[in-house]
Amino acid sequence: MTTSSVEQTAVPAHRHRVVVIGSGFGGLTAVQSLKRADVDITLISRTTTHLFQPLLYQVATGILSEGEIAPTTRLVLRKQTNATVLLGDISAIDLEHRTVTSRLMTMDSVIPFDSLIVAAGAQQSYFGNDQFATYAPGMKTIDDALELRGRILGAFEAAEVTTDLAERERRLTFVVVGAGPTGVELAGQIAELAERTLAGAFRSIKPSECRVILMDAASAVLPPMGPKLGRKAQQRLESMGVEVQLNAMVTDVDYQGLTVKEKDGTERRIECACKVWSAGVQASPLGVMLAEQTDGTETDRAGRVVVEPDLTVKGHPYVFVVGDLMAVPGVPGMAQGAIQGAKYATKLITKSLTGEDDPATRAPFKYFDKGSMATVSRFDAVAKVGKIEMAGFFAWLAWLLLHLVYLVGYKNRFSTVLTWLVTFTGRGRGQMAITSQMIYARLAVERLQSQQAEAAAAKDSEAS
Ligand SMILES: Cc1cc2nc3c(=O)[nH]c(=O)nc-3n(C[C@H](O)[C@H](O)[C@H](O)COP(=O)(O)OP(=O)(O)OC[C@H]3O[C@@H](n4cnc5c(N)ncnc54)[C@H](O)[C@@H]3O)c2cc1C
Repeated sequence: MTTSSVEQTAVPAHRHRVVVIGSGFGGLTAVQSLKRADVDITLISRTTTHLFQPLLYQVATGILSEGEIAPTTRLVLRKQTNATVLLGDISAIDLEHRTVTSRLMTMDSVIPFDSLIVAAGAQQSYFGNDQFATYAPGMKTIDDALELRGRILGAFEAAEVTTDLAERERRLTFVVVGAGPTGVELAGQIAELAERTLAGAFRSIKPSECRVILMDAASAVLPPMGPKLGRKAQQRLESMGVEVQLNAMVTDVDYQGLTVKEKDGTERRIECACKVWSAGVQASPLGVMLAEQTDGTETDRAGRVVVEPDLTVKGHPYVFVVGDLMAVPGVPGMAQGAIQGAKYATKLITKSLTGEDDPATRAPFKYFDKGSMATVSRFDAVAKVGKIEMAGFFAWLAWLLLHLVYLVGYKNRFSTVLTWLVTFTGRGRGQMAITSQMIYARLAVERLQSQQAEAAAAKDSEAS
């Protein structure tokens, strides 16, 4: 028998494997952009949903339900057969062996990759004062928003019950720390909730007499939107009764209230039951985990990865970091940055499949700024698109349309439009239910976790 002189073409043992970490704007866009690519994708996220963070404040203030802004990722991707969705927390990324380890309860999964897209986003930063979180939750997750709803509505309930006037005043004082878009939107909505929805529903208190304070260490509201729009937003908030306190830095937070340091160094106390923190962000620790394994990629002060111009880390042309976790000059931590970064990365991965991608000659990522906006109240928003600045009803209309376009799922869009119609034209809000779990679960779980950690440490030391 003669051997064939025709050379066998090497057939790869598997399709190109893409692992995507995170199911936010960056992660979901990445997976959907690879819908027609000849790849196997594994999306791993610690949440089962794709969360539309810009509308979290509406969940916190009883307008929308959590399901309307957070569809289940595996249902969104049900028909995309090249994608597998795994629930899990990433415990390790091994760039040398090209694997990602994810943990769910006590189960570990090790998933190999040829290309990796890390879109793990950011969390709340308390600027080194993590103990503030006990009394001033942030606004990053569904849990945060539901906890906040419980705290806001719970404060009105407690104020109705107490007969102590000072305590009543404390219960009816709401402080939002951080005058960025989230802080502005939340302060405006708490004021509107009190003024419109809760009016006439209590007998001992008048909800509209509550104090809503929006506070920031900076000297302006909405600094990235410029002084003119910042002033407009401030004026509108003040006309609704919100107290805007600027140049005021929070130095302590406790159960009773918070301590504030003025620019001249003097300190004062605000007694308040309900505090919300929307003042800063810290990138996912996965950024540092990645950077430490590279030859020279750094992270910035917020823990974001200082990526190469093609959004990769040094020495790994198919390891991309996108969204809030990437540090790229001129790209803000906004949904558009994450979406555009994910599209850019997946384009390169798709080109690499046919040998058209040469990492050495890649065109750098270019961000297209589509503008930014924030609502102040119903029918009122501020928006900045390029040099165009808008405030008032037309800005609000633009805000409404844009948010509908980016909400995932037709059912969600439909129900959101209906809900907005009812809420903005009337007084009612459909999501006013609160439970003890919303208010206490986070702290109870934290206590449980630290008890478990202590028990495990004691067991270890007994054994050794
Ligand atoms: C309250 C609020 C309001 C906002 N408003 C606006 C707005 O009006 N306009 C705008 O453009 N932008 C807004 N943003 C910013 C915008 O939401 C973010 O820029 C965007 O979500 C970033 O997308 P991302 O994919 O990088 O991260 P994210 O959307 O945060 O997604 C991160 C994903 O990673 C997962 N993850 C994190 N760590 C791990 C881990 N260790 N293991 C597994 N999974 C992990 C998370 O579960 C999540 O699915 C707002 C943000 C917030 C918090």
